[in-house]
Amino acid sequence: MFSTGILSKFLFGNTCLSCGDTEKPLDPWLCEDCRAKLSSELLGGEVSESAFSLYSMGAVSRSLIHGLKYSSMPGLASYLVRSAREGLKNFKNWVATEGKVYFVPVPLHSSRLRERGYNQTEKIAQALAVSCGGKVWKALARRSFSVSQTKLSKSERVLNVAGAFVLKKRMNLSPKDLIVIIDDVFTTGATTGACAYALKRNGYNNIKVCTLLFEKPISVELDFVADRQEDWLI
Ligand SMILES: [Zn+2]
Repeated sequence: MFSTGILSKFLFGNTCLSCGDTEKPLDPWLCEDCRAKLSSELLGGEVSESAFSLYSMGAVSRSLIHGLKYSSMPGLASYLVRSAREGLKNFKNWVATEGKVYFVPVPLHSSRLRERGYNQTEKIAQALAVSCGGKVWKALARRSFSVSQTKLSKSERVLNVAGAFVLKKRMNLSPKDLIVIIDDVFTTGATTGACAYALKRNGYNNIKVCTLLFEKPISVELDFVADRQEDWLI
């Protein structure tokens, strides 16, 4: 598991981002063993209807996504995308269209953006656009809520999530153009589903979802709390 101890060693020395080893050569984030483990965590396929993930959640992919989200390492987005290899090829085929492809990042809550300095889903979208061709379209904005999600009933939460995003920038698309909503982790698909809802409400219907990681939800309830805590509880 990634820790601040490992981070400080990483900043001042040659430390593998996943296992913390300081002796082996790095690539530049991982040692050879962890690099091999990352390959075994490749997924590169559909995880749900119209949703694709490049990796399954494993020890190494978890460390890297943690570094991307919490340790000011935006370069990990392109590292993970480029390292997906076969998965990336599958993804290119999966999004193939006669029109253009638009990568729409899930927007970050403004307080999180101020704290982090960048939106990790934008970094993933940019890396995919470079690797696969296509454009990044920051179409959505996140609405802020005054009510903590945990105080709401399950049905109220669903309604709340459904209205969590709004269209902030319109774009004229042709019917063959494809929108791919980009997020870091796919669990139940609640967040990306809410993004798709906001787009569909504005007349955009050709929509798919791609995330770096797929994590099986232990339960919808637990997953919801995990998904939402950084957005609403802080
Ligand atoms: Zn390692």
